[in-house]
Amino acid sequence: MPLTIGILKESNDKRVAITPENLKRSRVKDITWWIETGAGDEAGFADSTYADVAEVKDRASILSKADVLVSVNPPSDSDWPQIRPDALVISQFRPYQDESIKGRLESASFKALSLDMIPRTTLAQSMDVLSSMAAISGYKAVLLAATQLPRYFPMMITSAGSIRPAKVLVIGAGVAGLQAIATSRKLGAVVEAFDVRSAAKEEVLSLGATFVEVEGAVDDKGAGGYAVQQSEEYLARQRAKVQEHAAKADVIICTAQVRGRKAPILVEKDTVHHMRHGSVIVDLAASTGGNCAVTQDGQIIKVNGVTVIGNSSLECEMPEDASRMFGNNILSLLGHITKDGALDLRMEDEIVKGSLIKT
Ligand code: NAD
Repeated sequence: MPLTIGILKESNDKRVAITPENLKRSRVKDITWWIETGAGDEAGFADSTYADVAEVKDRASILSKADVLVSVNPPSDSDWPQIRPDALVISQFRPYQDESIKGRLESASFKALSLDMIPRTTLAQSMDVLSSMAAISGYKAVLLAATQLPRYFPMMITSAGSIRPAKVLVIGAGVAGLQAIATSRKLGAVVEAFDVRSAAKEEVLSLGATFVEVEGAVDDKGAGGYAVQQSEEYLARQRAKVQEHAAKADVIICTAQVRGRKAPILVEKDTVHHMRHGSVIVDLAASTGGNCAVTQDGQIIKVNGVTVIGNSSLECEMPEDASRMFGNNILSLLGHITKDGALDLRMEDEIVKGSLIKT
């Protein structure tokens, strides 16, 4: 019997975990694919577009019969008792954000593989949903800022006068930050960026932005490429430096995160008050507290004439390409953990060891 993999419909997300195009191009063979009714609708993939590659089924049948379930966000706890015992559920369980998830999973009868726990190594690059989704959110953050800003991004020399280019400050030069820098540069802005990892400096410079350095950052090479918590003394110096640069910025894109911790506050309320009227802050770290002191998660607010957008899920605003990329990431993972149409979960494999959070 070939392996059956069911793609679940999301409840509060326009994305779908795998698109029909992903399946048509897939090199993962000998799989029977099932798709939940309406799963791709909001991403632009109607049930009919899956006709050649998957069988459309209702949720209850997929939950109770599929060998493997895939989704962008984990099935809800109320779905859990219906899931076939010993099935493998592949999703973003986010144990770094949801501290109770591992404990809750202990009593579940299925296995859980958390996509966000796949190690950020060269081998696993094609499976890295965090990177593909962060790149979209960095891009979208800049477009959102550009539409809110009452000024131009590029320099304009016209018969009606000359306009100076916008200044963009990017805080955190990881995947989202680097994409925000690249997008801002393409739109003609002058860009500055902060990061605590020394490796980020070269990448920032290669994109044509200026790297703003605050001496004395702790840069732990053993943290898997992630930033580590900085001292309060360092963060205070950084906040002062941010204020200096924020006063001249038209747009601030906040992306600084420390895995498993609250995001550092780097843009104080007072800094927002120092910004020019009409300026825009997009805080992608909103769901973990935000980098800006006034950010409200999921809200767009005005503070002293500055628009502050708190949104950590901008990738959901581009569901078609987000789904395409997510699907490619999952299929790459499936290519790694299946062999001859069967699951091949080797615990000594570093990708499996890092991401299989419930066996
Ligand atoms: P992230 O979302 O965890 O954090 C975003 C950025 O915020 C990081 O660059 C971090 O250094 C920075 N930051 C944290 N505290 C800060 C502070 N006080 N001030 C300024 N910046 C601060 O990061 P991410 O985008 O998920 O990337 C994490 C790491 O993984 C990076 O090193 C990235 O290059 C690496 N990565 C590796 C691969 C791979 O090799 N396959 C793929 C993707 C990402």
